[in-house]
Amino acid sequence: MNIHEYQAKEILNSYDIPIPRGHVALTSDQVERASKMMGGRCVVKAQIYAGGRGKAGGVRLVDYPEQAQEYAKEIFSRPLVTSQTGPAGLKVRRILVEEAVEIAREFYLSITLDRENSCYVLIASAEGGMDIEQVALKCPQKIHTLPIDPLTGLRPYQARKIALELGLTGSVCEDCVELLMNLYRASQEKDCTLIEINPLVVTKAGWLMAMDAKITFDDNAVYRHREYPDMMDYSQLDPLEITAGKYDLSYIKLTGSIGCLVNGAGLAMATLDVLKECGGDPANFLDVGGGATREKVAEAFRIILQDKDVKGIFVNIFGGIMRCDVIANGIIEAAGEVHCSLPIVVRMDGSEVELGKGLLRESGLNVQVGDNLGDAASRIVKMLG
Ligand code: ADP
Ligand code: MG
Repeated sequence: MNIHEYQAKEILNSYDIPIPRGHVALTSDQVERASKMMGGRCVVKAQIYAGGRGKAGGVRLVDYPEQAQEYAKEIFSRPLVTSQTGPAGLKVRRILVEEAVEIAREFYLSITLDRENSCYVLIASAEGGMDIEQVALKCPQKIHTLPIDPLTGLRPYQARKIALELGLTGSVCEDCVELLMNLYRASQEKDCTLIEINPLVVTKAGWLMAMDAKITFDDNAVYRHREYPDMMDYSQLDPLEITAGKYDLSYIKLTGSIGCLVNGAGLAMATLDVLKECGGDPANFLDVGGGATREKVAEAFRIILQDKDVKGIFVNIFGGIMRCDVIANGIIEAAGEVHCSLPIVVRMDGSEVELGKGLLRESGLNVQVGDNLGDAASRIVKMLG
């Protein structure tokens, strides 16, 4: 689960990490007033669930309140497209109006999960700011990574080593050690899979400050934090993802034309691989999970059909817990209801498979039943080709 920059900064601030003074505004008039309160000169920052805003015109330095209002009108007027949003961009509903800080140096800093090594890892670079992706590509040696032992946690000597590698000395170095220790504590207590500060800056006055912040919470830990669901901004999510969430289905939007209905994440991955190998391009995948009911399958089918990019549907279900005749009835119910004429290929196996296949063949839908995964995948690709 993602949150906005201003919310992430509030969390950082509650862990004694300094942030610029700021106000969140919902209208361009509010932006103007906030700018006035700060004496005119400030920075307006579009709040979206993506980075790359600076280069896309979503972060702008302002000299006087009327200019703040003018920029805010522009920012609110259309979706913001950045290198991280995809071509459709994201709607801007909130703008953070922040004091303009005089920056001396910019660093990159993050704590994230290293799933391969089953631990958190601290990542830091003295070359922070808007070009960190280029640094990672061209000079990876300038990026320092430190795996954190889950038993001992981050130790001050390790934090000091990182601060020294960033080229910090004296009291700023000690401030950085404290900041890193606090950041690690925040990542643990708030169940974050990512906390990123890019840039962390040293101001001209010599203070460390988090100038940007991104936090991703671990979805599996949201239940431990009663305040998290209220922090969600639904305007930032794909409406189909929201519907899928309500029915406890996992829906992921992709860029191709084949809608995929599968049960289980492993089978979903295998399905995408086989489709790709056959020359197909998945539009999405929808995982109905292990013990899905007929209603759940029907709902999943409706969600896939609402995706305008879908030109054909591939159903790949292993009926271990779920019976194949139940799946077949779910598909027939949903496809019938929306008068679906798109080609459908079903590959299923498991309990009551023959009964399920029979129901589909007699359904009157534009459906083919594959004998195995490879056969079924090449059929849907041919039907669309
Ligand atoms: P993004 O990462 O989405 O591009 P940032 O919040 O990092 O957005 O802003 C982009 C750049 O704008 C930063 O690297 C920093 O140089 C500058 N910036 C951001 N906030 C401020 C601020 N309050 N005062 C001065 N400069 C800022
Ligand atoms: Mg940034």
